[in-house]
Order: sequence, then structure tokens, then C-alpha cells
Amino acid sequence: MNFADIILPLAQPCYTFAVSHIADLKVGEAVAVQFGQRNVYTGIVLRLHNNPPKRGKIKPVLHRLYDFAILTPKQIEFWSWMASYYLSTVGEVMRIALPSLIKPHATSEELYIPYSLPTEKFLRLKSMPDSETFDRMSRRAPRRAALLTMLQRNGGEIARRECSADAAVIATLTKAGYIETVERECEPQVQPISHSTLPILSAEQTKALEKIDSGLTVCNVALLHGVTSSGKTEIYTHRIAHALAREQDVLLLVPEISLTAQLVERMQQMFGNRVIAYHSKLTPLRRTQVYMDMLRTDSGRLIVGARSALFLPYKNLGLVIVDEEHDSSYKQSEPNPRYHGRDAAVMLASLHGAKAILGSATPSLESFNNAMAGKYAGVTLMSRYGGSLPPKIIISDTMRAVKRGERKSHFNKELLDRIADRLQRGEQIMLFQNRRGYAPYVECPRCGWTARCPHCNVTLSRHIGSLRCHYCGYHIDNLNYCPECKTSQLETKGFGTERVEEEISALFPSARVLRLDSDTASSDSAYNRIINQFAAGEADILVGTQIITKGLDFKGVTLIGVLNADNLTNAPDFRAVERAWQTMLQVAGRAGRRDKAGEVVIQTSDPSHPVFAALSELGYQHFATAQLRERQMFNYPPFSRLIRITLRHISPERLAKAASQLGVELRAKFGSRVLGPVTPLIDRIREEYIVQIIVKIENGASFARAKEITSEHITALRRNADYKGITVICDIDPV
Ligand code: ADP
Ligand code: ZN
Ligand code: ZN
Repeated sequence: MNFADIILPLAQPCYTFAVSHIADLKVGEAVAVQFGQRNVYTGIVLRLHNNPPKRGKIKPVLHRLYDFAILTPKQIEFWSWMASYYLSTVGEVMRIALPSLIKPHATSEELYIPYSLPTEKFLRLKSMPDSETFDRMSRRAPRRAALLTMLQRNGGEIARRECSADAAVIATLTKAGYIETVERECEPQVQPISHSTLPILSAEQTKALEKIDSGLTVCNVALLHGVTSSGKTEIYTHRIAHALAREQDVLLLVPEISLTAQLVERMQQMFGNRVIAYHSKLTPLRRTQVYMDMLRTDSGRLIVGARSALFLPYKNLGLVIVDEEHDSSYKQSEPNPRYHGRDAAVMLASLHGAKAILGSATPSLESFNNAMAGKYAGVTLMSRYGGSLPPKIIISDTMRAVKRGERKSHFNKELLDRIADRLQRGEQIMLFQNRRGYAPYVECPRCGWTARCPHCNVTLSRHIGSLRCHYCGYHIDNLNYCPECKTSQLETKGFGTERVEEEISALFPSARVLRLDSDTASSDSAYNRIINQFAAGEADILVGTQIITKGLDFKGVTLIGVLNADNLTNAPDFRAVERAWQTMLQVAGRAGRRDKAGEVVIQTSDPSHPVFAALSELGYQHFATAQLRERQMFNYPPFSRLIRITLRHISPERLAKAASQLGVELRAKFGSRVLGPVTPLIDRIREEYIVQIIVKIENGASFARAKEITSEHITALRRNADYKGITVICDIDPV
């Protein structure tokens, strides 16, 4: 082949270089190229061909970097799909896909970090002594003779770490010329799979596993809807063992890095060193090691990771599991490609001819709909493992509590009585409020002034000691009086976790209270410290945001309070009600996971909202069906697909002009499928104004074609000199 399209670390399409002078260059190999006058870039061969480019002078590839390809053909397929589906470039995919040490980049000197497989020391037999010498050695230095005998029996070689002989024995034999120590690359030996280490499934779990097995013979994807604590993980392990025993790789995805550690430990108990953790918080060296080991060695491995683990070089992928598939953290919000980890996982499995299992206690309506339509095999598991009862849910009417004088601070009597009771019994309590800080805003009761961020169009949140912007980090000291009318004390409106912590501590002075939110859990170690303290029973009450809803398993918790469910249901988003349902059930799932039954008190001023009826198992089908009907009526996903275009610029006039022109152009093509331009709820962040346009393409129409057209108009807008400096972001399937 004469030419190669090379993936460069750029947000532009691939460039073509001449390669006929490089022997046997293969797709997936890493190379160095001259780019522009001075720059040398490293890149990866995407495609080899004989079509000379139409424009420009063609430059030769400088040289290859390794003697093997760093991308497999499947990865190239996956990257190409991702770039095209999410309207981004393969170069952008590469930037997020490869560990930094092997990632192509612009460079001036040192091109690459050389990679080598881990090495190991071996003792090797050079020659045996003659029989007379050996006899003498057996009598006078039996340990030396024993080592030589062992080496002879092992084909002349043994790994140093597997040899119990001490250093003096080895040194003497080496000096005498009988043995030597050599260092070699090693392929780690993986542990054999033993089904006896797997958990024994309950009758109901066995039935679910059988349904998954039979479902996966018909469909490529199974949706496991199993209530919290039903033992979904235990079911996964059986499918995992099945794939590993066939030397297939398995990918087990979780939505948050913080959830990997616990799961890795659990999996290692069954699958030993076949289990590998992979996520973006590992050191660059570790990520590179994992990547290269997978590239150069075979054998079934279980990768437990966050979404970046999708980009590893799987050779023989047999199974992909997406745990907590409903979680919106699977979506990459920035930079490009803005992909959805769950959807990409299903695609990855399909490229490999592998099976996929999506698991959740609260499936997304998208997946639920796929199961209803027969696209996915739907499997349900409706009881908790070990007979623990589902938590009892109490909907507590805040308005009524106020009227009857049964509300103190932000707590209804129904919740307070139960807290008092649990404290007395030495059981634990979790209080959920989806807002950090002390209060979302402060206001002057006289003139109405509110503290706002000078850089963003939001109020400053009150924290203990400061007023803070949650969007740009701007902060000032707390104000004692209104800076406008200078006459009065400011009033604090609403409440966040800090205030909950303060109020509950005041109401129950002897209770030990911990708070878990992104302020207190600013690092992994801080997060772990709080979790471990609470798990060890060193606190009675844990106050927290969304963080406490995810994956945590505390045996002592028997009461959960959701302090303001209205926050959840009122969010301005077509998914708000679905999310509210998911959040409440997930947080409820933290209660009574063992022998003691749990209770959940949900405070709301709208107790008749249908979302509350759906919190019982029986309510789910009805609720999901009703939600889907509503989505269908308004043509929202899963009955359509969305393209969300966000434009940002510091000049609101220029921005409005650009957005309105783009809106007009798109409307000419798509008609009423175009919504906007609209200003989002928060329309200015870090000095930049924000406008959005949404294109809604109904199922059945060509989404690919719609994206193509949209992309053309965006490219034209970016090139238009009048709109220079405007940032345009395109998000496919926004969440
Ligand atoms: P889920 O992921 O569905 O919320 P888990 O897999 O975490 O549930 O299981 C909940 C608890 O029950 C865990 O402590 C788990 O070890 C235990 N468990 C579930 N199934 C079994 C089983 N078959 N054998 C032993 N323990 C089990
Ligand atoms: Zn004032
Ligand atoms: Zn701000």
C-alpha cells in the first residue's frame, strides 16, 4: 500500500501520509509523522490504501514506533463507530481512549516511552556435577544438592520466587558454575476457574440466571431488573465464570470509579489474578501496563472498571456487564466524544459477537422499553436475598405537618419520631438531600436583594463561613447585613446538607452525625474515611447528597429520610420524574439490607404525585408504562433521538444572532423537529452566555442523515467569520 490515513491527536479528520517506504506497515501501528513545518506528531494507522489525496503535498511517515500494532482491528471498528455516532473525530476518541504514556501527541524530542513486559528472575541449571562430586555434595551440603535435583526435575529451570532455597545456597552454586540466574519477560499465569468458589444461588436467583441464559440464546442483550440487595452481583459471577472458563475476556462496568474497589475485591475472591481494575484514576504507568498486557497476552480476564475500560484491547471479548445501567454518570459530559458508556458497551459487545447484561434495580425507560419490545431479554428478580424485607415507604405530607404544627426545622414529626426511636435502639439513619452547602441562596427580607455570582447567572449558595458559586467556584465571606440597603440581616432560603447536619445535631445533641457530599469527600481518602467510620458504627446519622444513594451497603441502617422529594420531581427535564423514581428507590435500597426491616420516610408537599405509587414493586410496571405513554405522546426518547446543540459566547448579541441563524437553517431542513433556540435555566456560566437548540428525530426517520445535516450546518457556522469565537457543542442522546 502506498498511503495511510493516520489518526492524529487532533479534533480534525485523519490526514493521509505516504508509507510505501515502510516495510509491512499494518493498520493499528503507531508511527511518527512530520506535521506542519516544525512539529512531529505521533499517530496511529487507521487505514491503508492506494488513493493519493486530491489536495496538498503529501509527506512521508517518518518511522514506526513499535514492532507491533497498538490497536486491534476491533478497536479501530469501535473508535470509528464512536466518532461517527457521536459526531466527533477518531482523533478525539484516541485522546480519551489510550493511556497517556502510549497516547500519540505532538512532540519535539523523545518520541515514546518504551514499553516492556514485566520480567521475572529464573534459576537455570548450567551443568550437573559428576556423580562423585554430587554424592559428596549430598552428604556435606544437602540443600545445594536438593536445589540441583529440583532444577533437573523441572526441566532445568524454575522461577526464583517459587524456589525456597536461600541466597547463600544459590550464590555458592552460581560461583561453582552449576547454575545461573536469568531474567526473562513473563506472561503471568492466570488462576484456573473453579466453580466451587462461586456463591450458591437461591432458588429465585437460579431461576433468574436460567432466564438470562435462555434469553441470551435469542437476544444479544439481557436486562436484569433486580431490586436492591437481590444479589445481582452473585448472578453475574456465574456468567462471568462461564466466559472465563472459555478463556474469554469479560468487562464489568460500574458508573463511578469509587464503586470499583469493593467490587474488585469481591471478584478476586472468586477469580484471583484474572481480575483487573481499570479506570482513569490509576497511575498512567499502571494503565499502560494493563493495556499492553492485554495487547500482548491472551487468556480470559475480568476487567472491572469505569467507562474508560471500554477502550482496552479486547481480543476475545465474551461478555459485557453494565451494572446500574440507569445511572446517568455513564454519560461523558465532556470533552468529545460525549458518549454513553452503557450504549457504547452494548455496541462493543455486538462488534465482538459477545453477550451483554444490563443490570439495575431501577432500569432506565430506554432499556425497559427495549425489553418490552423484545429487543432485550427481560429478567426480573423481585425479592431480596436472604429473605430481608423490602423497606417500608412512608410518604410524609409536609404541608399537613406544617398545618398541624408537626414540623421542626426541616423535619416532619413522622421522621423525627422514627429518628428518636432508631437512636434509642442503636440503629443507624441516613438522611438524603440533593443539595450541598447550607442553603441555595440568601435574600434581604427588606429590599429583596439576593447574592449572585458575578460570573454566572446563579445565586450564591450559602456555606458555613462563605457564599459560593457551584458553577465557577467564585466565593466570598458570609455577609452580616444586606450590602444594598445596609439595614437588615440576610435571610437564608432553602436548605442543603450542611444545614441538615446542623439542625439534626441541634435536635439530637447526643447523636453522632457525619456528612458525605462533594465538600466533605473531596478526595478518595476522605470519602473512604467517612464511609468506613459510618460502617464501623462510629456515627449514628449520615447526611448526604446523591453520593449516598450509590452502591453503599451498611448493615446497621434501618431508617432513611428523603428530606425534600419536590426538588427531585420538579426538575425541568423530561426525565425528571424517571430520575426522581430512580433516586428515591436507590436511596431506599440502602435501608434494612439484613435481618432488620427498613423504613423510608419521604417528605413532600405533593403526596399524590404518581411517582410515589411507583415506589412499591407492584407500582413499577404501571408507572413505567404510563411514563412511556407520555414520552410517546410528546415524542421524547425512547420514541425519538435528540441532538442537543449548545452555543456559548461572552457576547449575548453575537450568540443570539448565531443561534437564531442556526435555528432558521435547521428548521428549513427539519421543520418542527427543531426546538429553540432556548436559553437554559442557567444561561450564563464563567462569563459565557449559553443558548441551546434541540433537534428531535422520531424513530423510523434516519438519525444518521439528520446528524450529517446538523453537522454540516455547525461546520459552516464555525467557519463563518461573523461568529468567530463561539463555542458549539453537539451532544447526541443527551441525558
Ligand atoms: P444487588 O447488587 O442486587 O443490590 P448484592 O449482589 O450486593 O445485591 O447482594 C446483596 C447482599 O446479599 C450481599 O451482601 C451479597 O453478598 C448477599 N448475597 C446475595 N446473593 C447471595 C448468595 N447467593 N449467596 C450468598 N450471599 C448472597
Ligand atoms: Zn436589603
Ligand atoms: Zn459562578
